[in-house]
Formats: sequence, C-alpha cells, structure tokens
Amino acid sequence: MATLTVETYVKAIYQICTEAHSRSAATGSVAKRLGVSPGTVTSMLRTLAESGLANYQAYEGVQLTEAGRRLALRVLRRHRLIELFLVQTLGLTWDEVHEEAEHLEHAVSDRLIDRIDSFLEYPNRDPHGDPIPRPDGSFPDDETTEPLVRCEAATEFVLDRVIEQSPEFLRYLSDAGLSIGSSGTVVENHPSARALVVKTSDGQVTLGHDLAEKILIRRSRD
Ligand SMILES: [Zn+2]
Repeated sequence: MATLTVETYVKAIYQICTEAHSRSAATGSVAKRLGVSPGTVTSMLRTLAESGLANYQAYEGVQLTEAGRRLALRVLRRHRLIELFLVQTLGLTWDEVHEEAEHLEHAVSDRLIDRIDSFLEYPNRDPHGDPIPRPDGSFPDDETTEPLVRCEAATEFVLDRVIEQSPEFLRYLSDAGLSIGSSGTVVENHPSARALVVKTSDGQVTLGHDLAEKILIRRSRD
C-alpha cells in the first residue's frame, strides 16, 4: 500500500527526523509540516504502524521502520529527479519546480524515474543542491559544506545547497546573482545586527542570519 497520503507522511517524517538529526518525530511537528490537525495525524500514524512503515507510540512520537525509510527515500528520489528534469529539459526555474514535483512525485513509476535518471546522466544533486538518493537508497558522497552564516568577512565561497526553498526566497537569491554553483564573497558579517552582506557577480545582497543559516556553501580554495 503506497497511496499519496502514505507517501506524503513518510516523506514528512523522514525530513523532520533528518533536519532535527533525530530518530523520531513528534506528532505535533508532523501536523505542523502537513498543515493538518494532530488528531488526523494520530490516526494516520496508526495506519502507518499497521502497514509496517512506522513505529508509533502515543507521547513518544513516530519512527520510520526500514521499510518506511526506503519508501521515503524513493519519494525523495522521484521528487528531486523530477525537479532537475523540469529545469534541465523544460527550462523551468528553481523557484517553480517544487510545487510541480509535489504532485508528480506520486504519479510517476520508479521505472520512469530510472529512465529520467539515466537521461540526465545520473546526477548527484537537484536544482536546490539537495542530494538525490540512488535506487538502493544510498546517497552520493557528501561534500563538506557549512552554513553561510558562519563565514567571517572576506570568505570566498561557492553556493552548494539551499535549505530554505520558498519561491520568494529563491527568486530573491536569483535576482542577487546567487544560484547553485555560483560564487561570492562575504563583505561583512554582523552578529549584533544578525545580518550578513555578500558580494556576487551581480552586486551586493544583505541576508538575515536566519536565512544565511539555511544556505550551505563550500569555501573556495586558493
Ligand atoms: Zn529540491
């Protein structure tokens, strides 16, 4: 059984756990992420548990089983390959593809996804820099990245991944000349103002620390 709802839930649980570096997700965080009531979540978590996709104890939150984790990774693989396909073949921009992929990820077969994967020549990253899980559920090797917010003035960097992916924020970055693989220099970093100024090929842009926390970079080697 892998309905749209089941896939949506296992993906949400997987992402909450990954972001929090935790083995289990609280019912409340699942409800918040999916925009549904805690009661709705509780009954769905029981269904997941009955299907062997998750372990769920009231008050202890939910943990994916190995089968649940594998399903979540297959959905993420579909999502990220679809995003990249839409950007590379249809010319959509990185702020347009997430919503499309949210729908298509439940509609395409794994066979079609494997064809897209080979058509794109087995890419490692999606248009936001997120790693694309392989068919066996493993990830490409992680390059060493760090949040932009930690960089002091004069740091030269290459933008590697954007964790905050709202269309508005992605457009703000594009307008400022920042996209995956583009380079920049930190001009100033003010802990007291919680803001950071970055120079790009298109000029200068100011980013609040909250957002700079969600932009991952690699330092340029001299
Ligand atoms: Zn993405």
